[in-house]
Amino acid sequence: MRAVIVGAGITGLLVARRLQQAGFEVVVHEASDRIGGQIHTIEFEGHPVDVGAEAMHLGAPAVKKLVAELGLSDRIVPANDGGSLLLTHQGLRPLPAGVGPTGPTKIWPVVRSGIMTLPGMARAGLEPLLARLRKSPEDQSVGSFIRGRFGNEVVDLFVDPLLGNLHSGDVDKLSLHSTAPQLIGRATEGTSLLPKPTRPTRATLFRRPPKTPGPNLFSSLPTGLHEFVDAVAEGLDVRLNSPVTAVEATDGRWVVQTAQGPEQADALVLACPAGAAAKLLEPVAPNASRELAQTATASVATLVLTYDRSQPNQLLDEANGLLLPSTSGRLVKALTNLSRKWPQVADPERHIVRVSVGRAGQQRLATLTDERLVDIVAGELHDIAGLPERPTSSRVVRWQEALPQLEVGHAARLRSVRKVLEELPPIALAGGPYDGLGIGSTVKSAEARAAELITRLTPASQNDPEEKP
Ligand SMILES: Cc1cc2nc3c(=O)[nH]c(=O)nc-3n(C[C@H](O)[C@H](O)[C@H](O)COP(=O)(O)OP(=O)(O)OC[C@H]3O[C@@H](n4cnc5c(N)ncnc54)[C@H](O)[C@@H]3O)c2cc1C
Repeated sequence: MRAVIVGAGITGLLVARRLQQAGFEVVVHEASDRIGGQIHTIEFEGHPVDVGAEAMHLGAPAVKKLVAELGLSDRIVPANDGGSLLLTHQGLRPLPAGVGPTGPTKIWPVVRSGIMTLPGMARAGLEPLLARLRKSPEDQSVGSFIRGRFGNEVVDLFVDPLLGNLHSGDVDKLSLHSTAPQLIGRATEGTSLLPKPTRPTRATLFRRPPKTPGPNLFSSLPTGLHEFVDAVAEGLDVRLNSPVTAVEATDGRWVVQTAQGPEQADALVLACPAGAAAKLLEPVAPNASRELAQTATASVATLVLTYDRSQPNQLLDEANGLLLPSTSGRLVKALTNLSRKWPQVADPERHIVRVSVGRAGQQRLATLTDERLVDIVAGELHDIAGLPERPTSSRVVRWQEALPQLEVGHAARLRSVRKVLEELPPIALAGGPYDGLGIGSTVKSAEARAAELITRLTPASQNDPEEKP
């Protein structure tokens, strides 16, 4: 059996690894001159700096298992603990403990922070009651779900700068089912998002608190996340600078056109952006192609900036990051204090920070040169957090139409696209634009799509132990 994989991001490489382990002959074609896609480590001021994905979360079981399989568990570098600052109407405030991408999971830290107004807190306090009244199995936007539960303030203060920034998108458009699938059960059953208050018992009263909290689950590797991608790619046949330009289905097999000539395949995996998949599928599955072509994307950029350590500064000295709401009117969306957060980027002479800019629907980024972008961002950071007016060095990396916007109805649309593709020779759509953003979701997607192809293409006698001689 022969498989061709389109795209050497983490998804394409992992599908390739699994198919090769199952005995397939596999070739991966990558349009660009490197593997890794949105995982990309550069060398900057003598440190490995990730300019795409910056951290993998080892709380995702599939990621933890893969890291162990690759022999990387002992090389894991957990992020240093540290809070983030949030830009609010009252200026910079520490992000309260227990506030995650979909809002608060603890009440008291939010109350104590003073970030919310009294009416806002009173409205948020109704969540356990409203949960029972607002059951919904239907997909809706994350924004509308959380607004219905906690009220507008929680969305505008927390969900927008956290979940909205992660996706570089609009929380009132992003699908609850596709961007916060862990909440589907709570939405359907009408259960609260807050933990149930527990009555103290003898056991809980006298139990000693844990001595030390476990290591931070947001992790990297000593020379950056490229190590992870390189380990997945080990032993694979990957062809760089080799864009797949067309695919054709003939006699139950695929003919794949590449810069290096045509290839035959029993299975085809599209682990590339939805726009690229739509172009390839146009002649073989026009309706599926039209659906995929509608996937909105956000173009973003990562700026890596350095500042010297001569002047004290609250953000640079005390926080791991900064988050801004989409209503701030600023280009800056978020800042990560790399040299504080990551041991491999620690530097005695300078602060090294990474700034994210760009959101879905925002055109401004495309009109700015790199030089102008650095000027504007540095000016905004000076105004907001008192950073020096000019960084001592800078690098800009752009991600054109990179972040898929999984909007309301995405999962249903994708189900219908996959149904149409079942009529074709074996084919899979795998990765971020289909099964969700982030290393956790893409690893899960790659594992699931590879397993489906292996089941479909492995003779029944090998799958069914009863039929074995
Ligand atoms: C700036 C940024 C920050 C991020 N931060 C984090 C983070 O901290 N943590 C996290 O978990 N996730 C993060 N993510 C998301 C995460 O990186 C992605 O979800 C994941 O890496 C996507 O992997 P993928 O393999 O599905 O797609 P991609 O990485 O996009 O790979 C697709 C590949 O297909 C190739 N391709 C396209 N067309 C063709 C063609 N016709 N022929 C051949 N090849 C083709 C592309 O060149 C690319 O290499 C971030 C993403 C970005 C952009």
